Amino acid sequence: GFNCGIVGLPNVGKSTLFNALTKSGIDAENFPFCTIEPNVGIVPMPDPRLNKLAEIVKPQKVLPTTMEFVDIAGLVAGASKGEGLGNKFLANIRETQAIAHVVRCFDNENVIHVANQVDPRADIETINLELALADLDTVEKASQRLVRSVKGGDKEAIATKEILDRIQPHLAEGLPLRSVGLSDDEQRQVKSFGFLTLKPTMYIANVNEDGFENNPYLDVVHEIAAEEGAVVVPVCNQIEAEIAELDDEERAMFLSEMGMEEPGLDRVIRAGYALLGLQTYFTAGVKEVRAWTVKQGATAPEAAGAIHTDFQKGFIRAEVVAYDDFVSLNGEQGAKDAGKWRLEGKEYIVKDGDVVHFRFNV
Ligand code: GDP
Repeated sequence: GFNCGIVGLPNVGKSTLFNALTKSGIDAENFPFCTIEPNVGIVPMPDPRLNKLAEIVKPQKVLPTTMEFVDIAGLVAGASKGEGLGNKFLANIRETQAIAHVVRCFDNENVIHVANQVDPRADIETINLELALADLDTVEKASQRLVRSVKGGDKEAIATKEILDRIQPHLAEGLPLRSVGLSDDEQRQVKSFGFLTLKPTMYIANVNEDGFENNPYLDVVHEIAAEEGAVVVPVCNQIEAEIAELDDEERAMFLSEMGMEEPGLDRVIRAGYALLGLQTYFTAGVKEVRAWTVKQGATAPEAAGAIHTDFQKGFIRAEVVAYDDFVSLNGEQGAKDAGKWRLEGKEYIVKDGDVVHFRFNV
């Protein structure tokens, strides 16, 4: 599955966010193939299109697609040197595909700050430093391993070593690799090292209820993110935790009283999805209307593989209707009659919102 690790200093609101995300969650029983650990939450992707499709198809079941969020236990200064849960933290984060970095942007005298004052810049630098130092360690080990091949004139090794030499001082200064400006080619070349500071990252600015505007802490996070080309999602985790406790009706009332169109969590989930370069396609049968996740740019057989590897292996064709056509023409038959139903082959690049039926050999 696709996942996003939640990191941040202690007491910034990570568990509050994680708990809200998992409460908004979904019956794990529906996903028997996922191993569920206490720190992994399977979170449904909010997608109003799914309800539209269900209104037309009237299926027995409606299933959203999901994303995993992983609560990564407290990072402290010195983690890269093995302080606290340092090594475990770094190993966990290595396994995630994207990073949601929670930053404390709220005052609350009852909640102690680990460094005794709320200072988003210092907090972000502390975490980024630990991640950069872990990457520095990776660079140094990799460079040593490459020495012999470089001496032997191995072109691949020489090119890789050049990149490593260039990024090394940057990391030694505690700067994340995502701000080095590596080309796509260079990124491919160092991909196997799994650098932590190259993972797509978003900052979750945890603000108080009244902290969405005129909040100097939040301004700082925006500033830093702009320097790095990262995304900021301001959210009040405490309210989100309260919203997550409500049933549907209460939730709708609460949101309208707050003047919110949707829970802030939905923005967090969507931002994570976008960060990973993901998109959604649908299957719409009478048994089940369901959303599926694939990488943007995925081919039809790759998309089929999201359902089952056999679908990918035995792929013959995909029957495709664009979401807008499916809805405006009131389903598959209407789309067929209007000539909007297509048969696509294995080169077809799936588009966000496609309603697909796969034909395959077993
Ligand atoms: P973690 O250590 O990063 O997981 O932090 P927690 O989620 O345990 O939060 C630490 C404390 O801050 C808890 O007492 C939360 O209730 C409180 N807290 C979390 N988010 C907010 C917020 O948005 N505003 C305020 N005032 N307090 C918050």
